[in-house]
Amino acid sequence: MSVASVFPRLEAKLPSVQKPIQYVGGELNSVVKDWDCAASSETGGPTVRWALMYPDAYEVGLPNQGVQILYEVLNERDWILAERTYSVWPDMEKVMREEQIPQFTVDSHRPVGAFDLFGLSFSTELGYTNMLNALDLAGIPLHAADRGEDDPVVIAGGHAAFNPEPIADFVDAAVLGDGEEVVLAISEVVREWKAEDRPGGRDELLRRLAVTGNIYVPRFYDVAYAADGSIEAVVPNRPGIPFRVRKHTLMDLDQWPYPANPLVPLAETVHERFSVEIFRGCTRGCRFCQAGMITRPVRERSIKTIGDMVENGIRKSGFEEVGLLSLSSADHTEIGDVAKGLADRYEGSNVSLSLPSTRVDAFNITLANEFSRNGRRSGLTFAPEGGSERMRKVINKMVTEEDLIRTVAAAYSHGWRQVKLYFMCGLPQETDEDVLAIADLAKRVIAKGREVSGRNDIRCTVSIGGFVPKPHTPFQWAPQLDHEATDERLRLLREVVREDRKYARAIGFRYHDGKPGIVEGLLSRGDRRVGRVIEEVWRDGGRFDGWSEHFSYDRWMASAEKALAGTGVDVDWYTTRERDYDEVLPWEHLDSGLDKDWLWGDWEDALAAADGADIEIEDCRWTPCYDCGVCPEMGTEIQVGPTGQKLLPLSVV
Ligand code: SF4
Repeated sequence: MSVASVFPRLEAKLPSVQKPIQYVGGELNSVVKDWDCAASSETGGPTVRWALMYPDAYEVGLPNQGVQILYEVLNERDWILAERTYSVWPDMEKVMREEQIPQFTVDSHRPVGAFDLFGLSFSTELGYTNMLNALDLAGIPLHAADRGEDDPVVIAGGHAAFNPEPIADFVDAAVLGDGEEVVLAISEVVREWKAEDRPGGRDELLRRLAVTGNIYVPRFYDVAYAADGSIEAVVPNRPGIPFRVRKHTLMDLDQWPYPANPLVPLAETVHERFSVEIFRGCTRGCRFCQAGMITRPVRERSIKTIGDMVENGIRKSGFEEVGLLSLSSADHTEIGDVAKGLADRYEGSNVSLSLPSTRVDAFNITLANEFSRNGRRSGLTFAPEGGSERMRKVINKMVTEEDLIRTVAAAYSHGWRQVKLYFMCGLPQETDEDVLAIADLAKRVIAKGREVSGRNDIRCTVSIGGFVPKPHTPFQWAPQLDHEATDERLRLLREVVREDRKYARAIGFRYHDGKPGIVEGLLSRGDRRVGRVIEEVWRDGGRFDGWSEHFSYDRWMASAEKALAGTGVDVDWYTTRERDYDEVLPWEHLDSGLDKDWLWGDWEDALAAADGADIEIEDCRWTPCYDCGVCPEMGTEIQVGPTGQKLLPLSVV
């Protein structure tokens, strides 16, 4: 049975909304399948249908790699149909509510509520209100407990899903880790259940997913709270449900060279390039970095696969920029050969290369020169993260001031005029002096740049983000700095930079106020009680919380006060309070592989470093394993080169 497209109703309304092109679909490399594609395929049997969402506007959501990869992996199977949906802007929401047009996919404009599965990828917790809006527009009950047999199974993934407790009431399931294999495993379970004529209904389907041990179904776990508001225990509430749910790790990235058919957006988007992930994971051990901790171990793509993916992606998409992505791209064991090989291959063409994230100490100017061979010299960005050497020891980001100065000196002497430095404010154990050290560092950078280049137009932009403690990191126990103190520290820093007339005009200063960080902190380390806050915010009109023009701190605080009344806990309890070892953290039943005692030891090392201890956790790619727990727990291992291969120029351009 087919499902009618909402497009005829939608089309008439498109001229009345902003950027209507974002709702029409039909992008190059998008896929439209028959609603019953399995029936006409060799496989036969029931079709499994996924609606995939990145819960933000099209311009942010379309380039998202995670969704693009899953879209492709799923659609490669002839018995699976996957379509995409994005958050609609408020003007479109109004039209949809007036005209009773449900949340739709952009591929075939089918109602999201008609799919078997609704998968959402959260790279940030600030997308939670957009999920509620999409559910409501789709006509899917907000609460998982109220959903019926015909409603899709709502599944969360992405980094935020490593603590899905704040959205536990709204999702049917959550998946931790790499999605490629698990979406196929979920599809198999759904197919079998449908082929058997849905025995036991929705509850049985969810049970089948949960017993795999790899899919978290919140309804099968009860949370008990102690009198002081902390969690007493999280335990399965029926037989056969595992006590802990494990993350997925994709081994051998060469076997999964996606995206192979990159989507080319119709409307302007935040990134317009073809991105290739050159490795997954990072074991540098920066204590603030949740992405590094939860994606261990490092798994590299080989230089050959990277070369093939770039060649194929450019040919299929026509993009002129290629980004080599990963958490710290210059750490790839063959990055020099990758850069030179690609630069040789595309020399003289209009293809330019970029390396979006690099570390100060891994970077070298030869590499930067290779990447700018075909293109304009854009600014270079380095992330020392902590302003003072003391702070960098606390966070285990072992970049010395000398490293940084040496690197920027090389950059300025090779013709770069602009360097961007990224820092965080509000790190554990931080003092005003640590933040003011950012000004000294920026001044030294400018002075060195002027010295080596002999020019006066050298610039350094200092960009500062507020630190938010995240689950599954050594800082998961740390108190978050309140927003007033964050703002005050940043005000002091700005004043110090401005006062020095010799440097003030050469230093740009970018930062956000501390308020959104507190909301992110509430959502990151929250438990199930925080779900009421999210719902209250959404009911009060909260949408697009990642956008400063839509975000309302006051709305979040007023909603939290109302929703948490009588619980004995409040926003401060979730954010600025330090936890101790014995406290049951809301995500403790979700297994990222990291050993709790190792994390705690690392937290204690951070505190010791703040008092002057000289402790460095090195990278296990190049030093012996230090037993963080991940590899034995997950049955994984580090996969790094070098392969010794070289990329040959494929064609003369
Ligand atoms: S278990 Fe050992 S080798 Fe594996 S990520 Fe942790 S420290 Fe590295």
